[in-house]
Amino acid sequence: MNSIIVVGAGPAGTMCAEFLAKNGFSVIILEKERLPRYKPCGGAIPKEMIKEFDIPSSIIQRYFNSLILYQVEKDVIIERNGEGAVLWRSDLDNYLTQRACNNGARLQDETIVLNITRDVDKFQISTSKGAFECDWIIAADGVNSTVLRLMNWKKFAPDEIALTITHEIELSKQKIEERLGTDQLHIYFGKKLIGIGYGWLFPKKEVVSVGWGCQLNSIRNTNKQFQEFLSLIHEKIKGGKFKRKAAHLVPVNIRPFYRDKIVAVGDAAGFVDPLSGKGIIYAAWSGIIAGQVLKRIVDKNKIENFYELYEKKLSQAFLTALKAKRNIQGDIYGSNENILRFMKLWQNHRSTEIALSLWNKK
Ligand SMILES: Cc1cc2nc3c(=O)[nH]c(=O)nc-3n(C[C@H](O)[C@H](O)[C@H](O)COP(=O)(O)OP(=O)(O)OC[C@H]3O[C@@H](n4cnc5c(N)ncnc54)[C@H](O)[C@@H]3O)c2cc1C
Repeated sequence: MNSIIVVGAGPAGTMCAEFLAKNGFSVIILEKERLPRYKPCGGAIPKEMIKEFDIPSSIIQRYFNSLILYQVEKDVIIERNGEGAVLWRSDLDNYLTQRACNNGARLQDETIVLNITRDVDKFQISTSKGAFECDWIIAADGVNSTVLRLMNWKKFAPDEIALTITHEIELSKQKIEERLGTDQLHIYFGKKLIGIGYGWLFPKKEVVSVGWGCQLNSIRNTNKQFQEFLSLIHEKIKGGKFKRKAAHLVPVNIRPFYRDKIVAVGDAAGFVDPLSGKGIIYAAWSGIIAGQVLKRIVDKNKIENFYELYEKKLSQAFLTALKAKRNIQGDIYGSNENILRFMKLWQNHRSTEIALSLWNKK
């Protein structure tokens, strides 16, 4: 039987582990944190993900039906429809891990991958909790992937990565709903305020996740810009109790995603929407696709076909759209006029449609 080590218990790793374990593979998930663990994230998922991945209502903090888009330097506010839910990543990732384990995967948490070597056809993985051996490695260990660093894969360049800062602010449900509505997400654009990126207020039940994310090469002064953003939204979180602060990176471009029985999924591969920073659903999809392709090529004994098939399935699912978005990202965030044009198009169209056809029809 082929043995698989999945490194990372985020949505990418857990979905891949669940699929492979269900299909008879021997699967171990290595996770450096103790689960459930906090992960800095807006935690917003689209409606289709709730259905497709059977996300139970018990872990949903709040449903949303619209996005309020602010162009702060042009003084414009636009509302667009958009349905989904907001949740804590600690709840989502823990739930998906349990599901993978209920289907036969084994979790080894508080286990940090330290080194990887290859012995004929097997990988030897040394960790903070001993050594493991496997035939395939799924690199689901996020944007700073240790697996890919150890295997000397291409790093993300400063224009392929965004720095985010998150403050979790506790506020009563009543105040949240008076100031931010019952079912809305709030997104703030402005070239001077954020450069290539945006700020957000994503309300949970009794906490507002306040976030700011900016592509590394377009940051002027992180603290100053974040403070300016906080002043701008001050009234919305006034009186709130500061709970937690975190900084984290998000990739905004893809990088190589397969080599020699090592498969990159989710953030490790850069599968994130470069316009919105949305990555949870692409992580989950890529995890499942990696599992499906692995099963198929093992069943047919055609391991050499992995890359071609993985790329094809990813492209059909989302990769073509992410690449098109990356192609127009610099132009959209290039001026306040363009940001506003994007917001107006986004009001009535999906961002994929804008990237694939509408943006270049000037
Ligand atoms: C501030 C912020 C806000 C965001 N908001 C949203 C949002 O609202 N909606 C959305 O769709 N996307 C959002 N994203 C993007 C989203 O969080 C990511 O795309 C998603 O988490 C990717 O999932 P993943 O499984 O690939 O990786 P991750 O969720 O990063 O999981 C990787 C796992 O690997 C583990 N790990 C790392 N190194 C090792 C190691 N050496 N050994 C063992 N384990 C290791 C980590 O502990 C972690 O559990 C946001 C990102 C940030 C930073």
